Amino acid sequence: MADRGRVVVCVESGKPFEIREYDLPDPEPGAVILKITQAGICGSDLHTWRGDQINAPLHPTGNVMGHEGTGVVYRMGEGVTSDTLGTPIAEGDRLMHVAVFPCYHCHMCTKGATNWCINRAYPPADKHPYFTGTYADFLYLPPRHPVFRAPDELPDEVLGWVNCAMGTVTQGLMDAGAHQGQSVVIQGAGGLGLSAIAMARDMGAERIIVLDRLEKRLDLAEEFGADHTINIEEYNTPETRVQRVWELTRGRGADIVMELVGRADLLAEGIDMLTPGGTFLEIGDIVPGREVSIDPQKLLRGKRVIGSNMYLPGTLSTILDFLVKKQDQLPFDRITSHKFGLAEVNEAFPRAEWDQRQTDVTRAMLVP
Ligand SMILES: [Zn+2]
Ligand SMILES: [Zn+2]
Repeated sequence: MADRGRVVVCVESGKPFEIREYDLPDPEPGAVILKITQAGICGSDLHTWRGDQINAPLHPTGNVMGHEGTGVVYRMGEGVTSDTLGTPIAEGDRLMHVAVFPCYHCHMCTKGATNWCINRAYPPADKHPYFTGTYADFLYLPPRHPVFRAPDELPDEVLGWVNCAMGTVTQGLMDAGAHQGQSVVIQGAGGLGLSAIAMARDMGAERIIVLDRLEKRLDLAEEFGADHTINIEEYNTPETRVQRVWELTRGRGADIVMELVGRADLLAEGIDMLTPGGTFLEIGDIVPGREVSIDPQKLLRGKRVIGSNMYLPGTLSTILDFLVKKQDQLPFDRITSHKFGLAEVNEAFPRAEWDQRQTDVTRAMLVP
């Protein structure tokens, strides 16, 4: 008898998710099926749930939910013997998959920018191979999909958010040209922000300044290596926050400002925090239709505004090496703050919701 498994489907935004069951298909040659062990609730999942992804309407059959997460090899198609780097893999091994499923045929993919694939979309429900999201018992990885065997040194607790949160901020810092001796401002100390602190430091940041409204998150930011924190309840206007950044950077301004919150007005504020030649890195604003006005004159002295979304496959293996190197020094095991069973997904989302309110959730994980 075929294995069966659950898949979380968003049928209508603002309504509870449906949990559907399907027979697990056999893996085709080259494919790998993971048994999901944990799946993170990312900001973009919250957007789908809320219904503010107005540029990506839900499929008529619903959207399969979840892109961040990890699992163990459950079944391997004919011919699969190793991961992308040639490390042998077997059933039961922990595997980190790249959370981007590009088409490999569009003009962006053929230039190597698979994270900017123009055909990337949320997977529709009820369509073979059914297990196309991480909020499920299984995940079907198509032939040749990039995967990396998780290093044995890493505990499960540090693997859950790697392939979205950590990947996205790492690619962003690489795109922004992060290097030795810089001042980096990080707007937002959730899962993305904490990952960004650790990675910015490793890339050579001399001074890291983190903004958030929750003291608990700012304390954790310091444990991850933030040199200074700014509580936005205390510094409660853009002007006072900008001034504070200029003070903390000894009147020079920041080399990189990372927007990880998803609030358009932080672009205007961030540009004012930048030193001439500095880069504003937009990552959090994934919802269309939110606008902000800026004074273009402020960009003349070499200031750049760049966007970044997801990551290139190779970035993920770099991150796994980084985590092995740093895991004894940084509390990566504390980024996941809450765990819920897969059947509790409809309780987990309201709990993780941060729009228009505060949440104590840094990263919530669904554990099937
Ligand atoms: Zn994500
Ligand atoms: Zn493509």
